[in-house]
Amino acid sequence: MAKASPAITLRGVTKSFGKTVAVNHLDLEIGSGEFFSMLGPSGSGKTTVLRLIAGFELPDAGTIELAGTDVTNLAPFDRDVNTVFQDYALFGHMSVLENVEYGLRVRKVNKAERTKRAMHALETVRLADFADRKPSQLSGGQRQRVALARSIVVEPKVLLLDEPLGALDMKLREQMQIELKQLQRQLGITFIFVTHDQEEALTLSDRIAVFNNGTIEQLGTPEELYEKPKSEFVAGFVGTSNIFTPEQSKKLFGKSGKFALRPEKVDVLAKAKSGSLSAKVEEVIYLGSYIRLLLDVDGISIKVTVSEGVFHRDQTVQINMSAADLVAL
Ligand code: ATP
Repeated sequence: MAKASPAITLRGVTKSFGKTVAVNHLDLEIGSGEFFSMLGPSGSGKTTVLRLIAGFELPDAGTIELAGTDVTNLAPFDRDVNTVFQDYALFGHMSVLENVEYGLRVRKVNKAERTKRAMHALETVRLADFADRKPSQLSGGQRQRVALARSIVVEPKVLLLDEPLGALDMKLREQMQIELKQLQRQLGITFIFVTHDQEEALTLSDRIAVFNNGTIEQLGTPEELYEKPKSEFVAGFVGTSNIFTPEQSKKLFGKSGKFALRPEKVDVLAKAKSGSLSAKVEEVIYLGSYIRLLLDVDGISIKVTVSEGVFHRDQTVQINMSAADLVAL
């Protein structure tokens, strides 16, 4: 990951709408060329941060810098950023090529140059053959790629993406995730990606900021957030976790304190061994490549994922959990 001067620096940024504090004293640095995601539940302030960076909103307090230059009070078109919205916002009456050319036309680039650059952007998203079509003659994934081409054609240093894959079905979404990642690597542009889909954030990002109530609850690499969540909120929001109260931890591990334990860290054994616990199967959910079990150990619910086996409700199984896998909260 490039560690040059930060692409974006937010210092003490606050934004309220009436009585709602959407963003609360936020400090944030995003490196040049980073794939950075903002993850969090609905209403946690992610989109507002994106709109503040784009210049669609002005902060009540604090400063915003792009590549070391203060842009806090600059209009959106004076900032070297571009936004891809969830609804694509394509112009229906224009062809694909005209849509992609639009930003260059606004910047008074001559026709020949503009067509050349727009075609190149369309090639980058593998849509050169669709240049003459209208957006209504494209699939959702293709429209999404036109929106991307339209943003990259002006060669912004920073690309802001607000749930850009939200409207796509699962299959297309996974395909677009790979394409986005490849595109970002190829172009070297800083991507700031807003999503409430934790799996998407984990798959794509160099770093992720987990938002809660207008502040960042934790910031780190996907591995750090998954392996070392600092709070119950992060442990529950990034992946699935068992959260044990101090009493439950004492009972299960002889260790008091509040802990998180990932479901895949629980071993289901073929037979009892020393230290294993007897558990009742309450629920079995087959998910193809793995199986999710809900177990009951002496009144304590434990979520477990296993890759294989045959299980049924009310069955008794033996499990093994290691205190070394507990994450203190
Ligand atoms: P989502 O995932 O639903 O898009 P989010 O994390 O992006 O949510 P924001 O859109 O940033 O959240 O909203 C943060 C808070 O600010 C919410 O409580 C929202 O209702 C409020 N808010 C955002 N924009 C406005 C506005 N223009 N006027 C009033 N309140 C607003």
